Amino acid sequence: MSTAHATLLAEIATANRILAHHGVVDAFGHVSVRHPEKPDHFLLARSMAPGTVTADDIMVFGPGSEAVNGDERRPYLERYIHGEIYLARPDAISIVHSHSPSMVPFGVVPSVKLRPVFHMSGFLGKGAPVFEIRCCAGDDSDLLIRNRALGAALAKSLGEDTTVLMRGHGSTVVGGSLHEAVYRAIYAEVNAKIQATSMQLGDVTYLTEGEAQAAMTTNRGQLARAWNLWTSQIGT
Ligand code: MN
Repeated sequence: MSTAHATLLAEIATANRILAHHGVVDAFGHVSVRHPEKPDHFLLARSMAPGTVTADDIMVFGPGSEAVNGDERRPYLERYIHGEIYLARPDAISIVHSHSPSMVPFGVVPSVKLRPVFHMSGFLGKGAPVFEIRCCAGDDSDLLIRNRALGAALAKSLGEDTTVLMRGHGSTVVGGSLHEAVYRAIYAEVNAKIQATSMQLGDVTYLTEGEAQAAMTTNRGQLARAWNLWTSQIGT
């Protein structure tokens, strides 16, 4: 294994622990990275709690979201989220799927949209779309993205956005790098909390699409600061 690849595996393990530290993931949720040498493959931990993932737990998945290299360890049921979004979105380099609690309300109240309320979450753009799994799995599903068709339907709901809410389930966030996906997953949760608080006070003034775009561009240059802080907080 090359040094660069070993470093990437260690960073994915770190990302899992950062997201757990921030309460974005708990026993559930996952973070993946597109394979740097094989763009139709991706790297994702075996099925386990994110806070305990190490570099040795990372598996490689092919374009159909099935494990390659004869790896028979148990994979996440919802790995199709990652595989189908990587297929649909060439710009997606990393993906976080979680059930982070402040996001869930915005997936279940159709009259309210998750929108950027402050500059740190400009990536929310004009607001996050909501994926309704009943479209494709009927009224009796367990809400999980269990196959390629459901993954593709979720990717279609995501469209060109960065964040998609999943009704009655959670959310999925994409980034142009691992650091960006982690940043967005954390700040999407923060935004949801602030938005819910603001709505209790009165009518909310959201970022315009132009402000959101400009803030997103600025924040791309600040990812290292956040990553370095968050890494130090988990004691690596
Ligand atoms: Mn899930």
